[in-house]
Amino acid sequence: MLRNIEAIVGEIEKAKNILVVGHIMPDGDDISSVLSMVIALERLGKNVRGVIDYEIPAYLEEFPGVKDKIKSYDCIKEFPAELIISVDASSPDRIGRVYDHFKFARSIVIDHHATNTYFGNINWVEMYGATAQMVMRINKMLGVEYDKELATANLLGIATDTGFFKYSNTDATVFEDVAWLVGKGGDIAFISNMILENRPLEHILLYKDFLDVMKLDYNNTIAYSHITLDMLKKYDIKPKDSPSFVGDLRSIKGVEVAITFTEAEENEFHVSMRSKSWFDVSKVAVHFDGGGHPRAAGFSINTDNIEKTEQEVIDTIKKLMESYK
Ligand code: 5GP
Ligand code: MN
Repeated sequence: MLRNIEAIVGEIEKAKNILVVGHIMPDGDDISSVLSMVIALERLGKNVRGVIDYEIPAYLEEFPGVKDKIKSYDCIKEFPAELIISVDASSPDRIGRVYDHFKFARSIVIDHHATNTYFGNINWVEMYGATAQMVMRINKMLGVEYDKELATANLLGIATDTGFFKYSNTDATVFEDVAWLVGKGGDIAFISNMILENRPLEHILLYKDFLDVMKLDYNNTIAYSHITLDMLKKYDIKPKDSPSFVGDLRSIKGVEVAITFTEAEENEFHVSMRSKSWFDVSKVAVHFDGGGHPRAAGFSINTDNIEKTEQEVIDTIKKLMESYK
């Protein structure tokens, strides 16, 4: 892996115009990885753009620096990128239209998903808890100075992808990196206030309706539910700001697998899956052309009959669960 990191650092040092791209349906790790890479490259005097070909949810858009440094696809159409760095995306479909630009530039993929398809010229794929940890290593090798702004931006992804340092991906490197970033001014209390103590009231009200359509299966070890566009409309919530309750379902005693089906566009659902201790949800995700990690994975699916689709996904999970016996 060291050779890949050194090659990445070499490519960045050589290039002047650099595009940093995150994935569609961005999460905290993705936003953090793009933001901390953009801040670092700007400090090195590069002409850099951060881009995500998808709307950014409000709770992340409000994070300092995001509005200013991460732009939508249209802003990069004319950008003369020599080098494109993709962070936290496991396959080309995850970066939307930005992938079209891979034809015209050198490309680097930095990611921590086991399901990565190695779609760059140089690929550094390693099972860190967060992609933000990998960005931190690159930035340090480039000799970028860390201050409160950069350390807090970089800390965001490590905090969110590890569930604030408690998921099974929370290894010693997470605590070492967090200790280093906090030492540089990374403000964990600010991040937890922004992410955890900032839930819009409408999301709590929607949770009631979400529980009304929740179902349990397989001896109450599988919990699942859905959020439709109509349910969002009732509380005036935009699809891009749709909350994730999948962690709440997983937290139920005895539940091993939790699944939520969230309508992103008419008849197009994003499926989020979580498991508690032994079931590999990334296998289910790959089966449905998605990806992710053993304990957190997802995919998108088109359907005009959500109950039927739920049943298909649950049947697939039950079959896989049987194979563990
Ligand atoms: P979430 O359920 O929070 O959307 O995603 C959980 C994990 O699965 C994340 O690591 C995310 O990157 C991955 N993931 C979610 N949806 C997809 C998808 O449609 N395709 C791929 N390749 N990965 C996904
Ligand atoms: Mn991630």
